[in-house]
Amino acid sequence: MTVDICALGIDVGSTTVKIVGVDAAGNLAWHFLDQAGPRVEDQVDEFLARARQAAGKPDNLPLVATGYGRGLVHQATRKVTEITCHARGIYREFQHGGTLVDIGGQDSKVIGIGPKGDVVDFAMNDKCAAGTGRFLENSARHLRVPLERIGSVALSTTEEVVISSTCTVFAESEIISLIAHGVAVEPILRGLHRSLIKRIVAMVRTVGLVSPLMLSGGVAQNPAICRMLEEETESKVILPREPQLMGAHGAALMALGMGWSVLTPASGET
Ligand code: ADP
Repeated sequence: MTVDICALGIDVGSTTVKIVGVDAAGNLAWHFLDQAGPRVEDQVDEFLARARQAAGKPDNLPLVATGYGRGLVHQATRKVTEITCHARGIYREFQHGGTLVDIGGQDSKVIGIGPKGDVVDFAMNDKCAAGTGRFLENSARHLRVPLERIGSVALSTTEEVVISSTCTVFAESEIISLIAHGVAVEPILRGLHRSLIKRIVAMVRTVGLVSPLMLSGGVAQNPAICRMLEEETESKVILPREPQLMGAHGAALMALGMGWSVLTPASGET
């Protein structure tokens, strides 16, 4: 059975690759997600083949690429920054502005979105892993807790260890030392989440918090992140239905709005 897909958006992230197909009204009609592989171009080919198969159309679906590796999506009509695409995706979902926090695998962003969906300001951390999903992923590995459970394990206690290291590598040594001193996994995990959230909140303060506070990116699926962000900012946090797909959905909406053909040569960044 084919799906009604009129345009595609692909988000080539540092950790995962996401592709979204939208129908003529811009609704999310189809998606596919996988861990980012070492050969981006081959992976993009495979994703596009899946999209064509799902749509039952051999070609001519307009495509916008976003994300860290968007430069390698040669089939894209246009390449657009994650900032713009996340703002588009989130505005489509909520139909209002506010402050968006996007936490991905290797970077995090805070985006101020105006009442009409325009980007008014942003801050980005792509230099330090300590403010990203990678920080928690590495820690989870040391603590032998599956990634999908780290949030609920962190929330299962009120005890919290203060993680003093400001760098992922040193934090790993600190975790190893805490384990060696018999400290339980739960308060360590809670402290690690707190450390990440404090970094994010510092970025939120730089951009300025305009309610509501919204959360996107793969890390938004971690319940402790949402809860602790609410605690630290004393603001309610709202989540879209598919937080990890917001960038790809925004890209697909741009492809739909612009109606470019995949045969048109890719132009510069926006
Ligand atoms: P990017 O776009 O930078 O590749 P994503 O937005 O796809 O990143 O987010 C990937 C990150 O999301 C990974 O670091 C992973 O740790 C985290 N993540 C994905 N699913 C979950 C989950 N269920 N619980 C906690 N973290 C998750």
